Amino acid sequence: MVSDQMDYLSTVLWTDEELEFRNEVRAFCEKEIAPIADELDKGPYPRELIRKIGQAGYMGVHHSKEAGGSQKGLSYEIIVAEEISAVNPGLDMARMASTTLYGMPISKFGTEEQKKKYLLPIVNGEKIGCIGITEPDVGSDTAGMKTRAEKDGDEWVINGEKRFITNGSQADYMCCFAITDPTVKSKQGMTAFIVDTKTDGFSVVKDHDLMGMKSARVSWLKLENVRVPPGMVLGEPGQGFQILMDELDSERTAIAAEAIGYGRTPFEVAVKYSNERVQFGRPIRAFEGVSFKIADMYMKLEAARALTLTAARMYDKGLKITKQASIAKLYATEAAIQITNDALQVLGGMGYTTEYPVERFLRDARLMTIGGGTAEILRFLIQREIFKEFFPKK
Ligand SMILES: Cc1cc2nc3c(=O)[nH]c(=O)nc-3n(C[C@H](O)[C@H](O)[C@H](O)COP(=O)(O)OP(=O)(O)OC[C@H]3O[C@@H](n4cnc5c(N)ncnc54)[C@H](O)[C@@H]3O)c2cc1C
Repeated sequence: MVSDQMDYLSTVLWTDEELEFRNEVRAFCEKEIAPIADELDKGPYPRELIRKIGQAGYMGVHHSKEAGGSQKGLSYEIIVAEEISAVNPGLDMARMASTTLYGMPISKFGTEEQKKKYLLPIVNGEKIGCIGITEPDVGSDTAGMKTRAEKDGDEWVINGEKRFITNGSQADYMCCFAITDPTVKSKQGMTAFIVDTKTDGFSVVKDHDLMGMKSARVSWLKLENVRVPPGMVLGEPGQGFQILMDELDSERTAIAAEAIGYGRTPFEVAVKYSNERVQFGRPIRAFEGVSFKIADMYMKLEAARALTLTAARMYDKGLKITKQASIAKLYATEAAIQITNDALQVLGGMGYTTEYPVERFLRDARLMTIGGGTAEILRFLIQREIFKEFFPKK
């Protein structure tokens, strides 16, 4: 459900062009996604839908024109992320894993040839990408990565396992991180590769059975002697950790925008329900216990939007946004969980049924203080950046 009755986007924050773009994306979502939003939850999303999103131009707003994108920056990508997430979060998680998590490392560190071959088809929606960071023994501590790549002649040979990979079993390509020099720290010894998932030795162990995000597929993958030609190394050997950290800044900002979408629809449902549902002879919104929840939900949405837009605008200006992206993602994702939970409470028993989409959004939103950096890790990063600013190394 996407409401056009409420517009709490401030024209102070957004340009006229951005607001026009948002309306266009919203109309696309209402036509192409909203009618099948509940059905999509049975998963997996049809590949045709990603193709449609690509053809509409919503897979590449932040990619260069040479790569098929419209080069409008992350501040446009967050509009797409919020709008699609307000209808079906799992679908946007899959879209974003392809175009941002997989796409941004290629966009920023790939050669022109790599962009044409491995990014353009993603932006068109013809192919699907994924990013392979997490492993069975390696989650928050990415520097502890176990996957290895060794040189054999001109080629690299990759061995390892990647777990919780969004789009893993559906992807055509993976941006895969592996240790190429175990004799130095991971920050110097990690390399990023583009891997064709049809290569011999690449296999799917299983798709994880998830609590939410059911329209997406999230997989456990195995790489056994997967051979990668030299043209598929991203950036320079040893540059992997830098590429990974850079990717996480854009990913976290986009996840923050998705979280606003997760909260927005349940909020709108709760506002309407509280106006219609009568108990003790009056609409339940007349009770402070309900109406104060509505005030808190709205305030959190607005605050999350301002934080997210700040991070995106700074990124588009070429500034380092590790602190701002972490703050935006942490605030927006915790807010989304509180908002979806409060919305369900406002609906009472009806909120606990599948007759309203609120339970689906609550299940989906719960992921987001885990994926893309847990809330604990983000708090660690934020305080680290603060102390760096207060006490710079001399
Ligand atoms: C649905 C889904 C989709 C995902 N998609 C992708 C994907 O596309 N690609 C990909 O590479 N990964 C993906 N992930 C993985 C995700 O990024 C990790 O789950 C996340 O980084 C946390 O790692 P972990 O699950 O191993 O938890 P762990 O790192 O084992 O953490 C467990 C708990 O310990 C806490 N903890 C750990 N270290 C510290 C510390 N230093 N200080 C305080 N607390 C700490 C954590 O905050 C957490 O609460 C996905 C995960 C899920 C569930």
